[in-house]
Amino acid sequence: MLTTRPRGTADILPGQVEKWQYVEGVAAQVFRDYGYREIRTPIFEHTELFIRGVGEDTDIVEKEMYTFQDRGGRSITLRPENTAAVVRAYLENKLYAGPQPVKLYYSGPMFRYDRPQAGRYRQFHQFGVEVFGSHHPAVDAEVMALVMDFYSRLGLNDLELHVNSVGCPNCRPGVRKALQEYFRPSLEELCPNCKNRYERNPLRILDCKTAKCAELAEAAPTTVDCLCPDCERHFLQVQQHLRDLGVPFTLNKSLVRGLDYYTHTAFEIMAPDIGAQSSVGGGGRYNGLVEACGGTSIPGIGAALGIERIILAMENRGLIPAIKAGPDVFLATAGDDPAREGFRLLAELRAAGVASDMDYQGRSLKAQMKYAAKVEALYTIILGAEEMDRGCVSLRDMTAGSQREVARQDVVKVLKELLNGCCD
Ligand code: AMP
Repeated sequence: MLTTRPRGTADILPGQVEKWQYVEGVAAQVFRDYGYREIRTPIFEHTELFIRGVGEDTDIVEKEMYTFQDRGGRSITLRPENTAAVVRAYLENKLYAGPQPVKLYYSGPMFRYDRPQAGRYRQFHQFGVEVFGSHHPAVDAEVMALVMDFYSRLGLNDLELHVNSVGCPNCRPGVRKALQEYFRPSLEELCPNCKNRYERNPLRILDCKTAKCAELAEAAPTTVDCLCPDCERHFLQVQQHLRDLGVPFTLNKSLVRGLDYYTHTAFEIMAPDIGAQSSVGGGGRYNGLVEACGGTSIPGIGAALGIERIILAMENRGLIPAIKAGPDVFLATAGDDPAREGFRLLAELRAAGVASDMDYQGRSLKAQMKYAAKVEALYTIILGAEEMDRGCVSLRDMTAGSQREVARQDVVKVLKELLNGCCD
């Protein structure tokens, strides 16, 4: 127990973490390019927020939340997703009072008590964007374009964007009626959850992962067949904007987000090669969510992308660039006085922004040189009694295998120049 992490969690070790930092760096740049600002909300929230914001009828709320009572007797939940929390923060901090739309992004861990398998964890990480305050179909297209641009900047050019419209509360009675008529003859074959959903929210049946329900849902009527004129116009405009931006997409009529506050556009991005859990991201418009969370009627749209699955898809395609993580400079010393002088020099190098390290294990000079090669240092400084007497160090270029002497007082400057690629 003490040396085992909880099921469904992962340690991101040095070697792996650099891949995360690389992906996070690209994400931050894309978000900036599209005018999004970062928001950081708590890892835990009041349980009620997710019940309202994610929806009572969802798998997340029904069976996947990490909920507990804190010492003050409050019901707290580790966030299973972050849209509800961002909506809460938008309302609590009155971001609606500033210029609209408000475009936000986040990145961080989410928690769902699901059955772990490849690409599915109990603690996983998402990037997400949310836009509040605009109905404009160009915003729907922008969010999808941003997501696809991000993947493509990582080299993931072969992912599939599936798009659908789930309509609005005006279209829902028609969808509801059509679905109830369709499922009525097979009501007994539905799973117990879906039997309940049949009356309460038949659209949710289309989201069910149970094999029998999924099979029955295959030929079910779709939301796009029941769109009201406004929703139909909005959806056509979204598609036109996507075409204008040159973003390829597939219409997928079976894509649903079966809750009332999800409206209009729904989308999902698939990487077919990463296994059963092939969805690398998804999102949609939620014009009813801000109101459901206690605000006024403010439209919104967002997307959430799974970081683990992005990295998996990149690894499968050999897209992770070589990332240098070790020190640029290793300082090898021989003898007590050179070690002390080396320690001072190390501090100077670091203060000048040169990533450097030295030996603390009492290794021989030869072993230190071996170690420097192993950690892929670009340069090694060799400092022995002889060098100290002459007021210099030996500087070894580890790539070229060449060595030269440099005056002690010039070492930092010389290395800075060499590492910045501007030797003179
Ligand atoms: P969702 O919030 O369910 O719409 O999921 C958005 C994205 O988060 C998915 O497309 C996945 O890439 C990722 N994701 C969702 N659940 C998990 C999980 N349990 N483990 C890893 N990634 C997940």
